[in-house]
Parts: sequence; C-alpha cells; structure tokens
Amino acid sequence: MSKKMKPESLMMSYGYKPELSEGAVKCPIFQTSTFVFKSAEDGKAFFEVAYGLRSQQEGEELGLIYSRINNPDLEILENRLTLWDEAEDCAVFESGMAAITTVLLEFLKPGDLLLISNPLYGGSDHFIKKVLPKFGVHVAQFRVGQTKDEIIQIVNKTGKADKLALIYIETPANPTNDLIDIEVSKEIAKHFSTTDKEVYLAVDNTYMGPVWQHPLKHGADLVLYSATKYIGGHSDVIAGACLGSKSLMSRVKALRTFLGNMASPHTGWLLLRSLETLKVRMDAQAMNAQKVAEFLNQHPKVEKVYYLGNLTEENNPAQFNIKQKQCLTNGGMISFDVKGGEKEAFAFLNSLKLIKLAVSLGSTESLAEHPATMTHVDVDTALKKELSITEKMIRLSIGVEYYEDIIQDIAHALEKI
Ligand SMILES: *Cc1c(COP(=O)(O)O)cnc(C)c1O
Repeated sequence: MSKKMKPESLMMSYGYKPELSEGAVKCPIFQTSTFVFKSAEDGKAFFEVAYGLRSQQEGEELGLIYSRINNPDLEILENRLTLWDEAEDCAVFESGMAAITTVLLEFLKPGDLLLISNPLYGGSDHFIKKVLPKFGVHVAQFRVGQTKDEIIQIVNKTGKADKLALIYIETPANPTNDLIDIEVSKEIAKHFSTTDKEVYLAVDNTYMGPVWQHPLKHGADLVLYSATKYIGGHSDVIAGACLGSKSLMSRVKALRTFLGNMASPHTGWLLLRSLETLKVRMDAQAMNAQKVAEFLNQHPKVEKVYYLGNLTEENNPAQFNIKQKQCLTNGGMISFDVKGGEKEAFAFLNSLKLIKLAVSLGSTESLAEHPATMTHVDVDTALKKELSITEKMIRLSIGVEYYEDIIQDIAHALEKI
C-alpha cells in the first residue's frame, strides 16, 4: 500500500490477527485473568520486559502474562487509539478519572508545583485541589485569556517556580468552550524546564475527542481522555485513555500495573466496537451542532450562545486564532444562556422530550444539563461567576439524531419558558 490509510479506515482491523482467534472476523472478549506460557523460558522473558529489567529486543513480541499487565482487547484498543493522535503508545483505564489521577500521581511528588488552567472538569478539580495537597503537592492556577507573561508571573509569585513539574490544561473548557493555547502552554513548560528537570504538559482532550484536536502535535507531552464520552459514545461504558511517547507511557503503564486501574477486557471490547463508528458519529454530531447553534443564535429567548463556530476575527481575535490553530471543527458541544435565571432554565430542561436531561457528553443521544447546579456545583461561587457559569446557563451535548428533530425539541422547550 503506497498511501498511508486514514485512522477511520483502520478501526475495523488494525492490530487484530483473525488467525490467532479461530478466524473470528471480530476480536473476541478475552475474558481471562491469566495466560499460559509455552515454556518457562518464555515466562521469564516476558517478565523481564514487563518489569523493565531489560528492553524489548528488535522483533520480540511481548507475550501475554496476566490481565492487569496486558490483555489482547486492551492492547488492540490501545494500538488503534494511537492512530488518531499519532502517538507512540497508549494506556487505557477503567475511567477517565483513573487515567487523569494516574498521570498526576506519576509525574508529581511531595513538594512539587502543579500549574492548572481553569475551569477543569469537576472530578479533576476535586482531586487536584482536595487530594493532591494531602501529598504535599502545591497548585497554581491560571484562567482563559491570561497571557504567557501573566501566567509566568503567577508561577514565579508562588516562590516555587523551581519545583514546577507539570502543567495540566483542559481545552475547550467545560462548559463555556473557552480555549487555552496548547503551544503557549508548552512554551511556559519549556520556560521552567532546566537541563536536569523537564516540565511536562498534559492536556485533557475529552471535549474535542481524538478526531477534532490533536494536542501532541501542538507540543503536549500527554493527552488524556474520558473514553466514556466521544470514544465510547453510546452512554454504556465508563473508561479512560492516556497517550504519549513510549518513554512517558512506560511510566504511566507501570503505575497502572500497580494501581490496578486498567480497563477490563469487556470494556476494551466495547470500545473497540465504538471506535469503528467514531469518525462518522463525530462528523454527524459536529454538523448537527452547527444547525442547532444557528437556531439558538437567532432565538429571542436566548441571551448568549457559547459555541466555537460563533468565534470570529472581529468578535474575539485571541480565541479565534487559537481555534484556527488547534481545533479541526467547531465540536459538538453548545452552551447557552436563557433570558432569566434558574427558574427559566429549569422550565426549559423539564420540557425537553427527545433530548435527555443528563450529565455526560459525546454520546449518540443528545443530552442537556444545568452546569451551575449539576456538573459545576462544586466550583467556587466567585470563580463560577467569573467564568460565566450562571443560573441561566444550559449545556447541550449534540447527538446523531436528525437535526430538525433536535431543533424542534429545543424550540418547543423554549416556548415553555
Ligand atoms: C467526564 C470527564 C472526565 C472524567 O471521566 P470519567 O470517565 O467520568 O471518569 C474528565 N474530563 C472531562 C473533560 C470529562 O468530561
């Protein structure tokens, strides 16, 4: 084959050999805890590599040992996931939070400083601000819109700039679709790196998924996903993933082995199935979101729409430029403010029929929720106000339904306000 195939063409077959599974066209669920070695010599060799006592030799296949260390469903899934981000390696986890917390624990130690963007997903925010300090990790924060110099000042003012070990960002930010510049974040990481200490950059890419944004190409060292969202895409599985270079991922995988928070074979199998339709689902979702945003933009009961497609060179040059650099589409997430407050927002949510009133995102069915009292209820009140997460805000995750039906449902619910 002369031309490199696109990931969507490889999602049905890549990394799976039917001849190893009785010719089954689909990868079976390897529901097994342990694997039989052909010989004691093989067992010895597999363990030497798995425990890092020596590196894999040219052409040597790492044999299967035990499903906490490796399993065919997970290995094939991990190989397929690397194609979207063009990453060297991947590790899948039993949840997005498992992936995120494993990375934070591996790359931070007591006394270190962690720099984060705001707002972060509620679970990440809680772990970073409430759990990591118990282990002596210090946290510095910046917000959307702050310049590189301002962020460097924030780090310097902590008095712990020499202890900065990791920058952790989420872009687009949930639920406002505010963008953080990945390249600039990497420049800040480099600014604080020294010959004997590299500051790494980790990006939670859940909101755009592996199809619409590739943080590794913009300088990120690690990219993280809640695979529960777009990757899983059917609201029927909780899972997570982390991707990056072989050397960083060997650290992530080693800690995963000892925390034991890898995905199960069944979760791996479900995600293999989901990956086959990832591109078509996300294309349909982005197209539907465009139509829904156009409808909301002109509706008299809607005060403001937070949608990447609404950014222009004129209304917000800084955010528009970041979008042009790093986002391949406008995504499938829309937030909007209704005219009024909680009462009006709840009247809207309670009147939806097709769209389900539920948290989570990226699934085939459209979902709606109220960030201020649901996903973001834990965010500090002053910060919530600063970030425009108010009582009048609704967050929509657009699914694959026929767009006119989604719009009709929204129109009907807006009438009920
Ligand atoms: C849902 C989500 C997570 C957490 O993932 P789980 O799979 O629920 O553990 C992390 N980050 C973002 C942006 C999310 O939306």
